[in-house]
Amino acid sequence: MTSAEPHHQVQQLRRQLQSLIEAAQANERKLDRFDALERQLIAVSSMEELVNLLLVDCRADFGLDAAELWLIDPEDELRRALPSLPMVKAPRLLDGHGPLKALYGAVRATRLIGPGADAELLPTAFEPGTAIRSAALLPLIRQGLLIGSLHLGSRDPERYDAGSGTKFLDRLAAIAAIAIESMLNRERLRRAGMTDGLTGVHNRRYFDHRSLIEFSQAVRHRYPLACLFLDIDHFKAINDGHGHPAGDEVLRQVGGLILRSLRTGDLAARYGGEEFVVLLPRTDLTGAREVAERIRQMVQEAPFITPDGGTVSATLSAGLAMLPPGATSFAELLGAADRALYEAKRSGRNRTVAADGGVDLSATTGAAS
Ligand code: GH3
Ligand code: MG
Ligand code: MG
Repeated sequence: MTSAEPHHQVQQLRRQLQSLIEAAQANERKLDRFDALERQLIAVSSMEELVNLLLVDCRADFGLDAAELWLIDPEDELRRALPSLPMVKAPRLLDGHGPLKALYGAVRATRLIGPGADAELLPTAFEPGTAIRSAALLPLIRQGLLIGSLHLGSRDPERYDAGSGTKFLDRLAAIAAIAIESMLNRERLRRAGMTDGLTGVHNRRYFDHRSLIEFSQAVRHRYPLACLFLDIDHFKAINDGHGHPAGDEVLRQVGGLILRSLRTGDLAARYGGEEFVVLLPRTDLTGAREVAERIRQMVQEAPFITPDGGTVSATLSAGLAMLPPGATSFAELLGAADRALYEAKRSGRNRTVAADGGVDLSATTGAAS
């Protein structure tokens, strides 16, 4: 044995010890990152915060090249809610379980995929052009049901190795699924409180709240604000002739037609029995008249299907008013639109009447009845 050998062995042991320490430190950092993410997931207070956390922050914190979230949305709840939320990247919404079955088959467990294992799933799990070489696919399961899937992807083919453990990832998936479910429940409650159950448009309570915001914004930023009152003609005769359920069905379908005629920033609400109100920010008289006429014509042409399979036809009348310059209250606008509606009824129904030149200020004291 030469005198250099013990020294050499000590060196080798030192190196081994050093790499063990580094591995332990890397594990601790990983644990810290997962821990921090879990804490944030549990504390989120809105859908957009949750989605941003999973798709944007998580990607940055874990040094990933792509993150995707798929969520099952059979009732279109999310499809309706998401467009109005400020999100950097949106989840993919699925109508049914088909795409999830293609990823997980019958085994609903975390999958690590890469060059040696199921790499053919990568183009399905990630948007094209991301050049992902390995990934973790996390099934999101609540109460035994698959509600979505979270995909973490890397261009490094060895980042997610099929042989590695998935304990941290399984835990992350479980907590993400709980956070998503509780956020969906919260969203459902919130929507139920501001939506009319029959027609799907907003309710009067929500309109009263939002209209004040729209009014003050239009005044402050000096843009036009149009208001439409829409009232179904001789609706009592529809109820009397075809039954109350048929009347309900007409109301429901008219609500749907109105919603489909509007842009994202517009506001529609059921104001009373068979009366709807619509607010169109940044819309001038010509534009507002077009919207009103489009709705009126769609209603006139629609065969409304009744619960017994028959059809009913219906018409509606529209009153239209523009927020007058110098208006001091929203009630002025509402009152003018209501009077224009009355005029549409009086002059024969199934027509749009605009308050002359916007609003006749001399007659605008008091709110709509
Ligand atoms: P006009 O052309 O003047 O508006 O006549 P109208 O018959 O539409 O108006 P009226 O105010 O006389 O009658 C409205 C009817 O709408 C009376 C009410 O029973 C019915 N109605 C209100 N809410 C509902 C509802 O949720 N479902 C059904 N089916 N009917 C409703
Ligand atoms: Mg009516
Ligand atoms: Mg009415």
